[in-house]
Amino acid sequence: MADLLLKNSLLVATMDATRSEIASGWVAITDGFISGVGKPGSEPQAQAVLDATDCLITPGLINTHHHLYQNLTRAYRPALEGGLFSWLTTLYPLWRNLNEESSYLSAWIGLLELAQSGCTTSSDHLYIHPQGGGDVLAAEIAAAKDLGFRFHPTRGSMSLSEKDGGLPPDSVVENPDRILEESERAVLRYHDPTPGSMLQIALAPCSPFSVTSQVMEDTAHLAERLDVRLHTHLAETLDEADYCRQTHNMTPVELFQSVGWGGNRTWIAHCVHPSAKEIQQLGSWGTGVAHCPSSNMILASGLAPVRELRQAGVPVGLGCDGSASADSGSLWTEARMAYLQGRLRDGMAAGHANTASHANTMGGDDIAGQAAPKLTSAQPKLTSTQPTLTSARDVLEMATLGGASCLGRLGELGEISVGAVGDVVAWKLDGAAFAGALSDPVEAWLRCGPLQAHHTVIAGRPLVRAKEPQVNGLEEKLRQHRAAALRMQAES
Ligand SMILES: [Zn+2]
Repeated sequence: MADLLLKNSLLVATMDATRSEIASGWVAITDGFISGVGKPGSEPQAQAVLDATDCLITPGLINTHHHLYQNLTRAYRPALEGGLFSWLTTLYPLWRNLNEESSYLSAWIGLLELAQSGCTTSSDHLYIHPQGGGDVLAAEIAAAKDLGFRFHPTRGSMSLSEKDGGLPPDSVVENPDRILEESERAVLRYHDPTPGSMLQIALAPCSPFSVTSQVMEDTAHLAERLDVRLHTHLAETLDEADYCRQTHNMTPVELFQSVGWGGNRTWIAHCVHPSAKEIQQLGSWGTGVAHCPSSNMILASGLAPVRELRQAGVPVGLGCDGSASADSGSLWTEARMAYLQGRLRDGMAAGHANTASHANTMGGDDIAGQAAPKLTSAQPKLTSTQPTLTSARDVLEMATLGGASCLGRLGELGEISVGAVGDVVAWKLDGAAFAGALSDPVEAWLRCGPLQAHHTVIAGRPLVRAKEPQVNGLEEKLRQHRAAALRMQAES
């Protein structure tokens, strides 16, 4: 007997190896893993049943880049002028007030918001560890555990303050020895590499303009020794490219390679401005990319060359990015943004060959022939059925299998097949927003809406059921979050 059965669906889009789709299908989950999927009439007995009438069932969506603590400064008006660098320098003084309490509350609210948007696994890039703030990483991990959310937090870091030529103020950077000690401690304390793991740690120096090259190199060695993944921001803005050129006489991707990060242990956030040759290099390394369309548009960073990245074999997942730069923490919204942006950009490329060739906005030096990346290990490779970005199915692939690939968990996460984790979402395609959308539920899923998940199931447990969060004390948590956000915004 199964633990949980979702049945009576409109369609199950499995995202399995053949991308099979089952009309009116069902999904069964036992002991936290998918134990069956099939056509109507063959449903197993189950302890509990979720009705999925009028629902598209997909694998749970995977968020590959986020900064949960930033929902404490969401849509903060003084930071809305200018691009990434001025946005950061406005907000750093507020974020230095992050502490264990506010870290817990921001993660609890932020992960619940993600679950309501159909996300079942999330990374978090936590690079602010203020002195006197306590163990903010432990606090967000506690929140994920309390919710039952599958979590991939990263132990982020910043070591390069203004006085050393970096961007952040002194008050939010750490010394390199502490960064490495705390990174190792986090992995040893929390990282669970076993199948079905609910918690994995990656190491994540913030960006080329906030850590030294030595910290990048040492972190890469540490990740290799501990066998965990690496994450950072890279090639996000042209300001970053100018900084790397002036400081290191390299492009961001060249700097990334020079510190030993080019490999399939790594996934990077944004990657808006790689050169055409760097795109090929990233593909040959197997380095993943977290595509963050809303943030890239709000901060006017640019349009990421997602089609070229996917065609080069780069695993591309989706990311909400910070709750203060995308402001929404909805992965469905990011999927729709990726869809619209892909349609616009690829449509323009098809119609006007010159209008979408911005992938070469900088760099372009021939980096072929340099030392082979050392960070490699056997890993399943994502094979896209159609590496474009013009259909809802392309985006669903990015949001599920692409994300699993970025997190090094392809074959385990991001698909509905027997033995994969029991993370599924039912999306109810009904009401005025979906009236008339009868021909293709997967296209309707992104082209109509807006949409929130009807059921969100993580490891066989419904965290959202019939749109209702299955949690205690939501109103009280929201009140506490508001108080913490007011304190942070008042202390600037
Ligand atoms: Zn980010």
